[in-house]
Amino acid sequence: MQLAIIGAGMAGLACADRLVGNGCSVTLFDKGRGPGGRMSTRRVETPAGTASFDHGAQYFTARDPQFRARVAEWAMAGIVAPWPEAGKDAWVGVPSMNAPIRAMAAAHDVRFGCHVAGIQRNDTGWWVRHDSVVEGPFDVAVLAIPAEQASALLALHDLDMARTATTARSLPCWTAMAAFTQRVDIRPDHLPSGPVIGWAARNNAKPQRSGPESWVIQATGGWSADRLEQDAADVAPLLLEALRDHSDSGLLPPLAHLSAHRWRFAMTRGIDHGPLWNDRLALGACGDWLLGPRVELAWLSGRRLAIQIAADMAAAQAERP
Ligand SMILES: Cc1cc2nc3c(=O)[nH]c(=O)nc-3n(C[C@H](O)[C@H](O)[C@H](O)COP(=O)(O)OP(=O)(O)OC[C@H]3O[C@@H](n4cnc5c(N)ncnc54)[C@H](O)[C@@H]3O)c2cc1C
Repeated sequence: MQLAIIGAGMAGLACADRLVGNGCSVTLFDKGRGPGGRMSTRRVETPAGTASFDHGAQYFTARDPQFRARVAEWAMAGIVAPWPEAGKDAWVGVPSMNAPIRAMAAAHDVRFGCHVAGIQRNDTGWWVRHDSVVEGPFDVAVLAIPAEQASALLALHDLDMARTATTARSLPCWTAMAAFTQRVDIRPDHLPSGPVIGWAARNNAKPQRSGPESWVIQATGGWSADRLEQDAADVAPLLLEALRDHSDSGLLPPLAHLSAHRWRFAMTRGIDHGPLWNDRLALGACGDWLLGPRVELAWLSGRRLAIQIAADMAAAQAERP
């Protein structure tokens, strides 16, 4: 069984992990330059040294027993660690947030830098169109990308699935990344939500981080939506100003780096739906948007879809003479 999975974030890779265990051959396509998805880490050379920013997910929880077991394996492998400052059940990738994604991707055939523009089906199976290339045939196609991007690809094949995807909406998130030549005089390592800042954290204070004083400053969904089309260069200073309001002296040390990243589809509202699967077309969809805006729920969504696909495969095999 040959599978194509579009999207190599937590959901797509969890789906791949489970299906490879079932003897399937899986190819993943991801438009990103490297592993991470919304668990990405950005490294920047600054006059103060190499700064590292987890600019997507900040930490993750592990409450589901199966996900807890997976996280325990990652902890044994030294790629995640608890971050008690963020809560008693908070975990981060080490030495950077994308570590578990990097490790999962290394176990599969992942084609990075492939922006999939469409999937087509003919008598031989599914074909994946990216850039000026068409690859296939695959027996099964899975979309593990945000709902807003999935709906367009689904619309040509399964209107019900496409409709479900259009009901799941996400909030954007402007994220500023600031490195400094000295420590910022804010006592806690992360800040609670306020009118502008939804979350801010001293990135270099997370477990096993090194490098200069570095802050990730994430705006609230509403603030981000109001400024969605502004330039990153205009947004970054506004978020820096919001951080300054929290400093004891009302001042910030000299900057070594400042930039901003616009997450258009950051935090899905989630529709608590479970994975989508059309057994007639052998077309599936998974991702956090089907359960809720958390790393753990993305993993569960991918895994649940894989279990459904595997069950279908077993049933089809049992029917063969
Ligand atoms: C700013 C921010 C803060 C967050 N904070 C937290 C947090 O603290 N805790 C928590 O648990 N969760 C948090 N989340 C949510 C968490 O990151 C997501 O729920 C989870 O990572 C989603 O995984 P996914 O696999 O569903 O999607 P993604 O990680 O988005 O993976 C989808 C992949 O598909 C690729 N892709 C998209 N379109 C295409 C295409 N057409 N062709 C090819 N590839 C494509 C993308 O490059 C991406 O790698 C946060 C997210 C953001 C953005």
